Amino acid sequence: MVSWEETSKTQPRVVKQLKNSIKKQRLAHAYIFEGAHGTGKMAVAKVLAKAFLCKNAIDGEPCENCSNCKRITSGNHPDVHIITPDGQSIKIDQIRSLQKEFAYSGMESSKKVYIVEHADKMTVQAANSLLKFLEEPGSDTIALLLTEQVHHLLETIRSRAQTLSFSPLAPEGILQKLIDQEIPKPIAALASSLTSDYAEALEICREEWFAQARAKVIQLTEELRQRPDYCLVVLQDQYLSFFKEKEQLRLALNLLLIWYRDLLSIHLSKTENVVFFDQLQALEHQALQTSQRKTGEALQSILTAQSRLRSNVSPLMVMEQLVLRLREG
Ligand SMILES: [Zn+2]
Repeated sequence: MVSWEETSKTQPRVVKQLKNSIKKQRLAHAYIFEGAHGTGKMAVAKVLAKAFLCKNAIDGEPCENCSNCKRITSGNHPDVHIITPDGQSIKIDQIRSLQKEFAYSGMESSKKVYIVEHADKMTVQAANSLLKFLEEPGSDTIALLLTEQVHHLLETIRSRAQTLSFSPLAPEGILQKLIDQEIPKPIAALASSLTSDYAEALEICREEWFAQARAKVIQLTEELRQRPDYCLVVLQDQYLSFFKEKEQLRLALNLLLIWYRDLLSIHLSKTENVVFFDQLQALEHQALQTSQRKTGEALQSILTAQSRLRSNVSPLMVMEQLVLRLREG
């Protein structure tokens, strides 16, 4: 169940602003919630709908127990409408049927809320139709337009709504959300340091391949320490056949980069920053065998390998040279 308390953990500024407006009874009749995927736009929209329709709200805090709160939570309140793209776009018919329903006054009170998800996907006709609707707002109607691409919204729509920007999640925020989804912490920690997009991080975690890739990279660092002379053979046999696509190799290099950054953190006694935290012993062991300067050079070599891969040098050559460099470190 979403609440102000819950949503303010990730979007304190937006939540504070909305709660203030409710308290002062100065809610706008239209808002644009813009921000990356996974930043909580829909969650905030639902809490706002509850705060607006709740029968016992105190200072904008919904009670969660009245019939309005309960029906919004379960997604079947007759005066809260959610419009989502029908296929690739939001079509004029969808906006028209919303207007038709809203033409009758609220089923139970005069208050109504509509939420348009991916509002940037409205066709021009749909957007123009919505525009007319925004121009003649019922006094008790709130429009919430959610978008990841605010610049794709018509200027005329943007000028008639108040825009609230949702901040990208901090890595810790993403990590916590992944753990809430029962993703094992070592995997979640790695994914949340690869992307600041929660949805993307979750997708990465759910691919079995990712856990295997992680294990492969850990294994490579072990080979480099323990059997440096065999590294090139192992690279050919086990790695390049596993990281076949360029995209996969790019990811492998990112993981390797995180590993060496962890190593640097250990040199700097910042163990709390280590991402491969379940490999702390191996990292500490490696740190004893190398210097901070060498670790810095290794990081530089990985960055060089990444840029060579981008400029279409053969993956085999890129990786062979990298492994030779890392072996020296
Ligand atoms: Zn309530």
